[in-house]
Amino acid sequence: MRSFDEYCMKMYSMKPNIYIDGRCVGRDDKRLAPGIKTLGATYRLAEEPSWKNLIITKSHLDGVEINRFCHVNQSMDDLLMKQKMIRLLCRVVGGCIQRCMGCDAINALSIATYYADMEYGTDYHKRFIDFLRVFQREDLTAACAQTDVKGHRRLRPHQQADPDLYVRVVEKRSDGIVVRGAKNCITMAAYSDMIIVIPTRRMTDEDRDWSVAFYLPADWKGIKLVTRATGMRPRRHFKAPIAEMGAADSFIIFDDVFVPWDNVFLCGESNYATLLAWLFALYHRHSYTGCKPGFTDIMMGASALVADYNGVGDASHVRSKLAEMASTAELVYAAGVASAVYGRKTDAGTYAPNEVYVNVGRRHAGLHIYEEYDMLADLAGGLAATLPYEGDFLNPELAELLNKYIKRRPEVSSEDVHRCFRMVSDLLCSALSGVFAVAGVHGGGSPVMEEIAIWRSYDFEERMKLAKYLAGVEKDYLPKELAAQ
Ligand SMILES: Cc1cc2nc3c(=O)[nH]c(=O)nc-3n(C[C@H](O)[C@H](O)[C@H](O)COP(=O)(O)OP(=O)(O)OC[C@H]3O[C@@H](n4cnc5c(N)ncnc54)[C@H](O)[C@@H]3O)c2cc1C
Repeated sequence: MRSFDEYCMKMYSMKPNIYIDGRCVGRDDKRLAPGIKTLGATYRLAEEPSWKNLIITKSHLDGVEINRFCHVNQSMDDLLMKQKMIRLLCRVVGGCIQRCMGCDAINALSIATYYADMEYGTDYHKRFIDFLRVFQREDLTAACAQTDVKGHRRLRPHQQADPDLYVRVVEKRSDGIVVRGAKNCITMAAYSDMIIVIPTRRMTDEDRDWSVAFYLPADWKGIKLVTRATGMRPRRHFKAPIAEMGAADSFIIFDDVFVPWDNVFLCGESNYATLLAWLFALYHRHSYTGCKPGFTDIMMGASALVADYNGVGDASHVRSKLAEMASTAELVYAAGVASAVYGRKTDAGTYAPNEVYVNVGRRHAGLHIYEEYDMLADLAGGLAATLPYEGDFLNPELAELLNKYIKRRPEVSSEDVHRCFRMVSDLLCSALSGVFAVAGVHGGGSPVMEEIAIWRSYDFEERMKLAKYLAGVEKDYLPKELAAQ
């Protein structure tokens, strides 16, 4: 397994193909450092005895110890452990841990490639297993590039005025394919070893050229990562874990990129492209049932702390808000647990979560995301937004005065109050908090996608039968096994 330093060294050795604000830069650009450090927690903590059991597991391929982010889930316990690991990691880094992207992609690929081979006699699954061996052995990271730029939202890939608005195959050669197009909003692409590309929506037979999945090193020829790196409010003096948090999302352009056949996982199988898109969303929404409760834990803790420092920790409206946040966190988490308990082993051997529980959990999290910002803003008051710069707290002319006037409960030091407000300010007013809020709505698919998934998988017919029985419209009614939904 890799150390954090080895991961960083690899990043710094990669070819510069990252564009930030008009310039092409390498992975050693300081704007990427917070994201590298955040994701790097998955390497650093894997070496700590208290985290080892959670982060390290055994490969189902050869029994060798691997990082859980490189693991293909084999059982209910695997899913439960992944969810728990993500929640706890999000807590300690102060937000999105990011590395789930590649993990969710390999789980989805392990199933879709298997079924594609069963129907078409292709060797995608073997290629995938070859890739997985390297991915696990070298402890690699992968961004998952699913979200195409998509053009006119009502039109399918083959119907777009410009066919490049979904990533597509423009040439098939004896040694590989050439792809063109762009994916946007791709988290951690700027500091991942690999980019896994998968389709973003249901594909029809006419969309075969767009039904493509593959992986490439992130600095491969023709790949341009146009990147926005985001962090908390800048700090120089009052260091704190929350201030170290960072993320970067890339608009990835595939400028006629050659992909060797060994790297291709689907090419033209529109039905399995559809399955792959669906499976990634399934696993990613399951990851959300870990990370969203982790994020709510942070918002809840900050809300409780600021109310406590203000001397109103036991006020009824504070308790009500904390109970609301606890309910959201634990219901979303419980949905993830239920999705593991009611999940199933696929023919590919990979264990998949239950679709209904994953989607109701993810939907619930998304519905409440802005409420959490609202509650923390309410309890913190306006100072979280207007907090003076750090330097003013260090200016000999102002320091004593600011510390005198920032005071709340007498037994809490001014510095602690100041630090608490600086953290709340990061959580509510930083560039990164804005990104997290939108991610809370759209990450893993826009909200309507969860509703479509619920409509597709939930047995509303059965509920209608129940109503008919209760209303006396129909006589017989045998309740269906609950686990099947
Ligand atoms: C911080 C962040 C990180 C992300 N990270 C990743 C990542 O790592 N990898 C990745 O692949 N993606 C990532 N995403 C992208 C995310 O999955 C998408 O934002 C999400 O799927 C929505 O797609 P979109 O942004 O194109 O919005 P759209 O699909 O354009 O949605 C906008 C609105 O249009 C509506 N709409 C769209 N199509 C139709 C239609 N046909 N009919 C009616 N209404 C429609 C939607 O319901 C929604 O209300 C990330 C997003 C964010 C915000």
